[in-house]
Amino acid sequence: MAGLEMEDLKFHNIINNTLRSSPTTHTVTNPRTESALWPCPIASPADFEDAVSSANRAFKTWKLTTLSERQTLLTKLASHLESHLSLLSQILALESGKSLLLSELDVRGAIAQCLHYADPTNALSDHIQFEDSSVKIIATHVPLGVVAAICPWNFPLILSNLKVVSSLVTGNRVIVKPSPFTPYAVLKWIELVAAEEILPLGVLQVLNGGADLGQQMTLHPGIAKVSFTGTIAVGKAVMAACAKTLKKVTLELAGNDACIVCADADLPKAVKSVAGGAFFNAGQVCVATKRVYVHESVYEEFARRLVEEVRGSYTVVEDASVPSVFGPVSNKVQFETVKRIVEDCKRGGYEIVTGGEVRESGKEEEKKGFWLEPTIVKGPPEDSMLVREEQFGPILPVLSWSDEDDVISRSNLANAGLGASVYSSDLAQAERIARRLDAGSVWINQAERPHMGAYFSGFKDSGFGGEMGKQGLLSYSYTQSIHFAK
Ligand code: NAD
Repeated sequence: MAGLEMEDLKFHNIINNTLRSSPTTHTVTNPRTESALWPCPIASPADFEDAVSSANRAFKTWKLTTLSERQTLLTKLASHLESHLSLLSQILALESGKSLLLSELDVRGAIAQCLHYADPTNALSDHIQFEDSSVKIIATHVPLGVVAAICPWNFPLILSNLKVVSSLVTGNRVIVKPSPFTPYAVLKWIELVAAEEILPLGVLQVLNGGADLGQQMTLHPGIAKVSFTGTIAVGKAVMAACAKTLKKVTLELAGNDACIVCADADLPKAVKSVAGGAFFNAGQVCVATKRVYVHESVYEEFARRLVEEVRGSYTVVEDASVPSVFGPVSNKVQFETVKRIVEDCKRGGYEIVTGGEVRESGKEEEKKGFWLEPTIVKGPPEDSMLVREEQFGPILPVLSWSDEDDVISRSNLANAGLGASVYSSDLAQAERIARRLDAGSVWINQAERPHMGAYFSGFKDSGFGGEMGKQGLLSYSYTQSIHFAK
């Protein structure tokens, strides 16, 4: 790639380690500048069939590899990613609108994922399930087959690579479908792996496409499992389609994470942490802090400090090379969703204490991109759109509470339960609250940041099954019980 200019880059689907173009392409809009990026080939049904056949052919040999052989390959993937960090980060920045700093974090996160499962202590191993004088029963883990990884756009590499490393370490083959909003870095990454022939033919492939391709993946009898990350509505459709061929399914879906700030919280620290939880990547994080409940005794002070923090640290910076963890909304569709929520707050007369300005392109030639200033809304009604719906953007409601039972019942939603956070100097109180929250992960005195060592899953409509940690690998395997008579 040395000497190649960014505008000269070409993108291909990768099938059986070969580059495949397509007569049909689509072009993504850079969300920071609204300029058009590269033509991107859309995989045809025939491309998809070829990828499934290639993946199934690979089964005979790949399923016989040992765990340690596969872990060695994960280490190679990590160093390959490291050597292409600059190229991949630049592509990511252009397609997602992230700063180069945030894009590098996306690549570094993917490297860390490879290394995590390359460590023998983090992978599944055989164990004795039961033993007495008459029998010994071993549990062993067997790959499922071909995994389809259907991915969203907010962390293009981390979220697809998680499905890749989970599939590979457990002995599966995987076909990745990145989001059509952010296909480029994932296509390029898998092309680079194919060019070096790091993995056998058919073990890791990538196809660009939208809902049509996703649907084909959910229906094809040659696919054993779908690992899906995205919205609740599409997740339900995925599960219904997968039922037709009884595929294994993992759904990682939307959340609407509550954050509870207690009266005794360390306010300066909590404010910094909540600001990061809400506005990192402009709020486009599945476990972003999406609703903040602050004890009434510190509510006004917390809100004042939060506004100061956000105005100082989360500003609109147009130049992607300036290190910043704030950026534009990543695509036009999501921008429209966020704008609807801002409009609803304005229509309802809610108290917008900072931000609220949507930048409309076209009004002034130099103002382009899908930008909303970081926005904080004080005390919107509990049944407002901003509190009830996932905003997935840089707008945050801050509400007050006085009674512990009441704030817990307001935090627990009927239809979502991905993450939550609690801030208190009294760890017993924080833990008591955490244990009563309906959320797959709860963070105490820190913003919501998933950890590769911990199982990550959603309660209620936020998911089905989960990923990460050793437990996450179980969803990529059959557990076979071998009974030895004594
Ligand atoms: P989306 O549901 O619109 O799309 C996700 C993927 O599904 C895309 O690749 C899309 O092309 C594909 N798809 C669309 N229709 C399909 C169909 N009928 N069958 C199969 N595939 C189909 O979601 P999005 O807008 O890309 O992602 C944002 C959402 O993802 C947010 O709600 C966010 O909270 C959620 N998310 C969740 C997690 C998590 O781990 N729980 C992580 C990141 C994002």
